[in-house]
Amino acid sequence: MRNLLRPVPGHHRGNCGQSYVLTLGGDMIFWGTLRFDITDLEFADFRGVVGELASVLFRGDIFFANFEGVMTRAWNAYHDAASPFRFVSSLETAEFLARVFLRPVLSFANNHCFDAGETGILDTLRACGEHGIGIGCAGIGKSKDEALQPVMVELPSLTVGFVALTDLLPEYGYAAAMSVGALELTRENLKRSIRYARVRSEVVVVSLHTIGDIRAPFSFWPDRHQRSLARFAAECGADIVVGHHPHGLQYAERYQGAYIFYSLGALFYDPLLETSISPTHPFYAARRIFGGAIATVELCRSGVHALSLTPSRMFAWDNDARPMLVRGPLSSRLIARVLEGLLV
Ligand SMILES: [Zn+2]
Ligand SMILES: [Zn+2]
Repeated sequence: MRNLLRPVPGHHRGNCGQSYVLTLGGDMIFWGTLRFDITDLEFADFRGVVGELASVLFRGDIFFANFEGVMTRAWNAYHDAASPFRFVSSLETAEFLARVFLRPVLSFANNHCFDAGETGILDTLRACGEHGIGIGCAGIGKSKDEALQPVMVELPSLTVGFVALTDLLPEYGYAAAMSVGALELTRENLKRSIRYARVRSEVVVVSLHTIGDIRAPFSFWPDRHQRSLARFAAECGADIVVGHHPHGLQYAERYQGAYIFYSLGALFYDPLLETSISPTHPFYAARRIFGGAIATVELCRSGVHALSLTPSRMFAWDNDARPMLVRGPLSSRLIARVLEGLLV
């Protein structure tokens, strides 16, 4: 069975109490046709955009994924000639995600959160927070102190804290004492942000947007850089570490009690993205996007008690792009291979 939750070994269910479902996704890139879909379509149509992932995505109590880019009206606020793409979405995107997901939390600590400069980040914080929309923004802030603060989601009998970090931005993209930006992925910041989350929540989720070599083609195996940082997050007290930026689903492992998804790959993206990068560009070898997976994690006060994985991929569809579940023996083998590292 595809999305059957598998109990994790060693979890004693006697004192679990109420449990909740946390749905985890990888990169969401509202570029190309998806950008227009979201800006122009009615809510009802977005369910069409989500397509057959709806049954998996909408069943969670909390949704957490990486928003690759920002939401702003200031499309031209900033231009970095070195970057081949700018992922700048409309302000309506926030409203849209808030209507579609129950309790959405987004990570913005990634290499595209400065695509519209400081304005882009400030507009994103405003769009997600205003009018009681209530999308949690993790990993960015008006200052470093703000970016270090976890997003807390308080459920009736469980509090979950989310922090997000990246080390793929140029220096000016990181939040500092007096400047807007993302939380830089350093060991010191990891330790501090996890500690802040730990004291106020039963479950701590850490988002890491990183890779050792940004030019490397996709590999199922996480590199040394990813492994050492994710394991360090586990040592600092993270319960779940969720990675992305590598453009596909990677191996996962249980380490010192924490569940590490090295990369959930990409959830929403326009498949034309990979064809629009020139062969002379340094990122050409890394251009291909192999989709990713949605992780469904059942949580209680004492942590993770069951989980499942649903691989998905975007397909071009007329002039549109739609996500589809990956089926067949290949998918089953992939799920088995990833879960074998976690269910130990
Ligand atoms: Zn439990
Ligand atoms: Zn990225």
